[in-house]
Amino acid sequence: MKNFTNKLPALLGLTVVSGLSAQTTAHPNVIYVFPDQFRNCGLHFWNDDAFKSYVNFKADPTHTPQLDKFAREAVVLSSAQSNCPLSSPHRAMLFTGLYPDANGVTLNCLDKRPVSNLRADVTTISDVFSRNGYDCGYIGKYHLDYPTPNDPQRPGQYVDEREPAWDAYTPKERRHGFNFWYSYGTFDEHKNPHYWDSDGNRHDPKEWSPKHEADKAIEYLTSVRDKNKPFFLVVSMNPPHSPYQSLNDCMEEDFNLYKDIPLSKLLVRPNVNPELTKKQKAAPYYFANVSGVDREFGRILSALKAMGLDKNTIVVFSSDHGETLASHVEDAKNSPYTEAMNVPFIIRYPEKLKPHVSNLLLSTPDIMPTLLTLAGLNDRIPTGVEGTDLSAEFINLKPTKNAPKAVLYIRDADGKKNAEKKTIAYFPVARGLKTERYTLALTIDKKTNKLAEVLLFDDLKDPYQMNNLPVEKNKELFRSLCKLMPELLKKANDPWYREKVLSDIIPYK
Ligand code: CA
Repeated sequence: MKNFTNKLPALLGLTVVSGLSAQTTAHPNVIYVFPDQFRNCGLHFWNDDAFKSYVNFKADPTHTPQLDKFAREAVVLSSAQSNCPLSSPHRAMLFTGLYPDANGVTLNCLDKRPVSNLRADVTTISDVFSRNGYDCGYIGKYHLDYPTPNDPQRPGQYVDEREPAWDAYTPKERRHGFNFWYSYGTFDEHKNPHYWDSDGNRHDPKEWSPKHEADKAIEYLTSVRDKNKPFFLVVSMNPPHSPYQSLNDCMEEDFNLYKDIPLSKLLVRPNVNPELTKKQKAAPYYFANVSGVDREFGRILSALKAMGLDKNTIVVFSSDHGETLASHVEDAKNSPYTEAMNVPFIIRYPEKLKPHVSNLLLSTPDIMPTLLTLAGLNDRIPTGVEGTDLSAEFINLKPTKNAPKAVLYIRDADGKKNAEKKTIAYFPVARGLKTERYTLALTIDKKTNKLAEVLLFDDLKDPYQMNNLPVEKNKELFRSLCKLMPELLKKANDPWYREKVLSDIIPYK
């Protein structure tokens, strides 16, 4: 198979519907809060009576009082999936409504990977909001920019002195309509974060990053934004992303909630891998970060309410992907396991959405067109968007016959490298899907393109995915799931569809 370099999607003709004009404040405000690596089962309320009948798993014994209360006022999805459960690919799909091959971000962004870079000509959700009269603010981790040597304080150098460079400074021309900026690329010292503001000045506040970011969000809401406009505010907190090993990573008041509880009582899910002892010991720190994020999210909600903005504001709480913690494999993400793919998705919009729990299978690219429609901008969704507007599925109390039957799973790997050892092509190493009941992941060999591994789980009978069903004994099931693949792959304009990968198994037309 070819190595892929994202050339084809230029043909998609991504343009915005013309005739844009400033909108009035009749359009709702939108706040999108998404901490990094927050697994859906990390939400305490799934253990509560009002919610537990909707899921078949045990949630973590966390304390998330703010999210528990918020969930009762919102539409709560039990089965929202991060199609490619990795930072940069998720963020690109979220903002563009396009799958990775079309938006250019197939792997995490770092300077050694020029292949994974948001296409310059894409129209993002913030572009649309900005062009339609919104004030747009971004706070926190961005991780959607290919690092270049553009440090505003040290011209000609990368902001990240490490090799390879992961962190990035996003200059004005790459901010896609965000007029307020307080952000960085990616950096993992939770109590020593840094940010570049709208003018490129660097700030090193030396405090736990979600607290600092909530303060910034409140400042934006109360005094920074243009109050003659509706606003679109994104807050991207890094915790509960690793590191989660000590009090350097979380607030002591949150750690104290868990420090005296034995690991056996914290790790309640039966799929804990006994070999992952370091990840087991991380549990109280991971949960402390979950509780701290909960508190800071609650502070943003309180500020919104105090300003009387809670009714006409769409508030979303989600995450870029989950965290397998001490289950399955060492890598916390980038796998088809439920703990990695299943993310929180809680959306509150009192004027249009009646609180309820839904098992809607939401894909990441669906979020952009859905939010734009809920905000009254459905006629401004860029042409060529691959995600589906599922706003009706949020307004209805139950998924309709039009609701998605499956979501695509995507995993890419580094492909061809140039003389400078930079990755200039990617290899689409695994594809699969999740239905309401099953998980299927097909991995291919990099040299032969032949099937190398199959993961097949019955998530109804085996919610912790402890029994990989052998294909030989489940031929009919395997065939029926493979039959769903072509349509999903086609919709994503995926290289597997274009190259008819595993055509002996997947029934392409
Ligand atoms: Ca991430």
